[in-house]
Amino acid sequence: MTDAPAASQWDIGDDDHPHEECGVVGVWGSPDAAALTALGLHALQHRGQEAAGIVSLAPQGQFHAHKGRGLVGDNFSNAAVIAGLPGHAALGHNRYATTGETALRNVQPLYADFEFGGFAVAHNGNLTNAHVLKRALVRRGCLFQSTTDSEVFIHLIAISLYSTVMDRLIDALKQVQGAYSLVALHNGALIGARDPLGVRPLVLGKLAAGGFVLSSETCGLDIVGADFVRDVEPGEIVLIDDAGVRSIRPFARPASPRFCIFEYIYFARPDSIVEGTPVYDTRKRIGAELARESGVAADVIVPVPDSGVPAAMGYAAEAGIPFELGIIRNHYVGRTFIEPTDQIRNLGVKLKHSANRSMIEGKRVVLVDDSIVRGTTSRKIVEMVRQAGATEVHMRISSPPTTHSCFYGIDTPERSKLLAAKHDVAEMARIIGADSLGFISLDGLYRALGRPGRDAAAPAYCDACFTGDYAIPLLDQQDNSERPLPLLQVANR
Ligand code: SF4
Repeated sequence: MTDAPAASQWDIGDDDHPHEECGVVGVWGSPDAAALTALGLHALQHRGQEAAGIVSLAPQGQFHAHKGRGLVGDNFSNAAVIAGLPGHAALGHNRYATTGETALRNVQPLYADFEFGGFAVAHNGNLTNAHVLKRALVRRGCLFQSTTDSEVFIHLIAISLYSTVMDRLIDALKQVQGAYSLVALHNGALIGARDPLGVRPLVLGKLAAGGFVLSSETCGLDIVGADFVRDVEPGEIVLIDDAGVRSIRPFARPASPRFCIFEYIYFARPDSIVEGTPVYDTRKRIGAELARESGVAADVIVPVPDSGVPAAMGYAAEAGIPFELGIIRNHYVGRTFIEPTDQIRNLGVKLKHSANRSMIEGKRVVLVDDSIVRGTTSRKIVEMVRQAGATEVHMRISSPPTTHSCFYGIDTPERSKLLAAKHDVAEMARIIGADSLGFISLDGLYRALGRPGRDAAAPAYCDACFTGDYAIPLLDQQDNSERPLPLLQVANR
């Protein structure tokens, strides 16, 4: 049996959650397309903080691009930058890089000149056959410019023998496996596409002044005043031009779509409506279900901020126990560097979270968090709450145990580093130092989403990180031939 990593391994910048997986925005039919795209990216900042980029399409057909490392505000708050992105159409991308450098060449949208003109694409998700495809493409002479799996789309479109842009894109989509929500732009149209199982989100909105918006989440529509029209459906391509919106369905409708259930638990912004379901309400229902399943005598319910807040509210309401902000999060820490000394590393969690002693001292505390990945932060927080005077500390988690890695666009550690992959709940409680530990059950999670429970024959969601039930084949994982090729990392979103 191994314990959680020692304190000296803790990373100040690591909040020990699964990390987001990029956000995409596209605008068609507005003279302020680039500015609206920047605003949409700003609303989607939670989906990626490493880099941001926008490509715009000017009336004369030229494409303009601006990309940079850092936050949207770091790159697009200057009016001159927006003025340098003219046109009635634009698309943008927030990047979360999981491994390797955040080199500028990896920052999306990606752009290429084809015989039919310019083409830009931004991708949220992760392809599961990118290694296999890249090897074949390199052998055909394709020269990759980045280390992103998304560049595979560009080369597949380039070599396609079809004549129209749409047919080439469909040709490319039929060769890739994995999770993708795409926005793409060429001279004639803005395009949105979701993978056949609809793992990652993408919504369509309409601007009051005319024009359309594609966004990873509805919060990207709200910020620009666009009305929600509908979700882009699994396996659907929407083509948006001056004639309006057309739907193309190159794939059969899936019998059982597999939208990422973790979007409801943690990833999506709480004010977003995802697949017709408000995220905030859902998190409260998950918390209530968690209280029914694993209630414990306590004096106060305390969320681990920020993502644990709605679930803790639902838990407290169901349990009839006061809800208090017993932990305060410093929102200005950001992703910080890793100091070289153990002493500084040990400050880790305290840089982000502080115990609110007056709400904790002398009380039996239930901490509510959304997930445990390695357990490092949970252990620190439990210890911090005890040091603030809690008489008991019980941890409740609004997701089932994370036992498997995600290969569909969420940054999770390899399986051997997942605490729940190696330990049962009692062992995990001991490792994080809690008096008790409880996770919502898989059926309970599905009930909170309005289902009778998980139908093993046809689960309504992707839940592979809790079950190992990977609905999309992990072809790169099974590929034993000569890999990796230079530069390829299937880590880009
Ligand atoms: S494996 Fe987990 S995080 Fe990844 S898409 Fe599926 S539910 Fe979401």
